[in-house]
Amino acid sequence: LSPVPSDIEISRAQTPKAVDILAKEIGLLADEIEIYGKSKAKVRLSPLERLKDQADGKYVLVAGITPTPLGEGKSTVTIGLVQALTAHLNINSFACLRQPSQGPTFGVKGGAAGGGYAQVIPMEEFNLHLTGDIHAITAANNLLAAAIDTRILHENTQTDKALYNRLVASVNGVREFSKIQLARLKKLGINKTDPSALTEQEMRKFARLDIDPTTITWQRVMDTNDRFLRKITIGQGNTEKGYSRQAQFDIAVASEVMAVLALTDSLTDMKERLGRMVVASDRNGQPVTTGDLGVTGALTVLMKDAIKPNLMQTLEGTPVFVHAGPFANIAHGNSSVLADKIALKLVGKEGYVVTEAGFGADIGMEKFFNIKCRASGLVPSVVVLVATVRALKMHGGGPSVTAGVPLKKEYTEENLQLVAAGCCNLEKQIQIAQLFGVPVVVALNVFRTDTRAEIDLVCELAKRAGAFNAVPCYHWSIGGKGSVDLAQAVREAASKKSRFQFLYDVQESEILLGFFWVDLLLGDQQASGTSRSGSCLMAVSTYTLGSSDVLVSSQRHALCQRHKGQSITGLSDGKEENAHVCLRTGFGNLPICMAKTHLSLSHQPDKKGVPKDFILPVSDVRASIGAGFIYPLVGTMSTMPGLPTRPCFYDIDLDTETEQVKGLF
Ligand code: ADP
Repeated sequence: LSPVPSDIEISRAQTPKAVDILAKEIGLLADEIEIYGKSKAKVRLSPLERLKDQADGKYVLVAGITPTPLGEGKSTVTIGLVQALTAHLNINSFACLRQPSQGPTFGVKGGAAGGGYAQVIPMEEFNLHLTGDIHAITAANNLLAAAIDTRILHENTQTDKALYNRLVASVNGVREFSKIQLARLKKLGINKTDPSALTEQEMRKFARLDIDPTTITWQRVMDTNDRFLRKITIGQGNTEKGYSRQAQFDIAVASEVMAVLALTDSLTDMKERLGRMVVASDRNGQPVTTGDLGVTGALTVLMKDAIKPNLMQTLEGTPVFVHAGPFANIAHGNSSVLADKIALKLVGKEGYVVTEAGFGADIGMEKFFNIKCRASGLVPSVVVLVATVRALKMHGGGPSVTAGVPLKKEYTEENLQLVAAGCCNLEKQIQIAQLFGVPVVVALNVFRTDTRAEIDLVCELAKRAGAFNAVPCYHWSIGGKGSVDLAQAVREAASKKSRFQFLYDVQESEILLGFFWVDLLLGDQQASGTSRSGSCLMAVSTYTLGSSDVLVSSQRHALCQRHKGQSITGLSDGKEENAHVCLRTGFGNLPICMAKTHLSLSHQPDKKGVPKDFILPVSDVRASIGAGFIYPLVGTMSTMPGLPTRPCFYDIDLDTETEQVKGLF
């Protein structure tokens, strides 16, 4: 239709096929799905075993150039591409998307089900509770938070003996250690299984974690943009006996539990990862984990259904997995490994799985390759790089683009000069993808105001910059048939042999780790000359972002100078200690997850195009040991977004007669 109706009108005009029929069409057996309502189902992990001997399909990543704050259409391109492949070219394909947080849905960005005639339906179910995975993450995260503070209270208000007696379970009158407790005893070097055999000293060692409250890194979470929870005081009731402390809430998708969900590949692996998560350190500077708190099993129980990918469909009835959505600001921002793995089996050797990386290629794609592919072992065939004329004009010097403010005439009228000038960002992002040895197809997501000359210019410059191909796409306005050219270009690119490689090798970093720390914390460039620029961080920042240096804060620099070559325990700065705890828990082989603005290649959101000669300021280094990465914070990264003056929730309403949701987009 012209003009294209609103996203929710289009979504509602299409009746989704029953999800059990969809499941059957894509080769799932009846006992491999668990149906939630009419149009959603969870898919068990059993198809992975059933199809283990079948070759995987082709693996396509959709990434983007540095976007405007409005988003350049990565989700719509992902959906348009699978609609084109399956519904128009008759090739099996699957889209794998992230589940959106409700924070942006009610806040500033709206939903994330795609848009126009390239959407996942029903979009209100996609954008709201789905099958409750984020709620499960919230519950698991907060159970762990409660366990930490309660343990501190009890350890400080009970005798060794009383605490010990309460911690050891009594089964049928016989005192027994649980499996998790036996694992902890082993870790403490106590090889005893009979609770009555422990000496007084061993009993104390077992019963007391001696958590240092100033080192707690685990925060409570909720899935609402509530800025007033960014800093809170907990434990102010009389019953908490003065054990109050400053804490904070993060948005639920920023929880490490979400990052674990996205990177795990089995229930056993998820349990191990959950148990490894470091939440604080004890008074001797040793890390305290979920496992130490005895809560691993309970967390796994809360997450047992969330681990199953959610099956939905596009407007054209093709299959979609919606699973996991780690906060791209501080985590890797990619959907789940498990969804991709199951989809790659289901589509068969000749089929395609199209998965999306959050933010621009410098962040989302880099993390997809270096973190997600490293965890999964999957090899990508093609990168689809999404560009828009409007974002290129912004990089070429056009006025700033703000959500909710009408675009200026530079964006609504032809301006070849701005487009040509802004193509430097596209060129840079193509080069970044090429560092990984994967062919790039540029998808120019066409908007109504783009002119033929502008479209031709972008495609021409993209090819000149080394793209395998560059094609305009019209899925937003006409659905899958508008992306058939893109689908053909992707097929051609995928027929080439992938020469995929990581940007750095974490295995070689056992020795380099020391250099990495010196390099990172001391800014000691001498130390970094050993190999491939000496550290993972330097590799990420210089190769992909183009920065000429990495800077650490002067305070941190001074602290580290003092402690150069010494033990790193006992620093007064809490954040410093967090990082050091992670070092001791063995992040030697963990990849880097750069936490940086997505609005610029640099750390300054207003620096557009390809900023040169900037120094990347690393303000802190933290680690997600369970998920398996360390994340340097570049600039300030909020882990709890706020609501704008005019949030999306003003427009959201329910028609109580028809039970239809209104105002979602
Ligand atoms: P991203 O995934 O890159 O954040 P989305 O695919 O979510 O971007 O698109 C952002 C918004 O832009 C959505 O509201 C979508 O409907 C809209 N949009 C995307 N492509 C087009 C287009 N070609 N014309 C008009 N609006 C579009």
